[in-house]
Amino acid sequence: MLESSLEFLRCVRCGAKLELDTIKSDKEILEGILECKKCKLQFPIINKIPILWDDFSQYLSSRRILGGKLYKFAHSQKIKNFVKSMILPKDIL
Ligand SMILES: [Zn+2]
Repeated sequence: MLESSLEFLRCVRCGAKLELDTIKSDKEILEGILECKKCKLQFPIINKIPILWDDFSQYLSSRRILGGKLYKFAHSQKIKNFVKSMILPKDIL
C-alpha cells in the first residue's frame, strides 16, 4: 500500500486512526504492521496488502491454507511471527 493511503485507513473495530510500523518498503509499503493506538488491535501488511480484519486469528482458524500462504508471502521474521501467532490456537501458546 502507499504510505499516503494511511490517512484513509481506520481501525475496523473502533474507527480510530492507525499507526504504521514499516518493516519493508520501496515505493510502497511492502510489509508492516498497522496498529490502533486506541484498542491496540494490530493489522499486518503483507505483500503490499493491509489486512484489516477485526479478528484475524478467528478468520484464519477456518482458513488454514490462507494462513500458510500469508506465511509464505511474508519476508520478514516479524511478519512471519505475527502470522504464526495468529494461526496457532491461543491456548497452546
Ligand atoms: Zn481500534
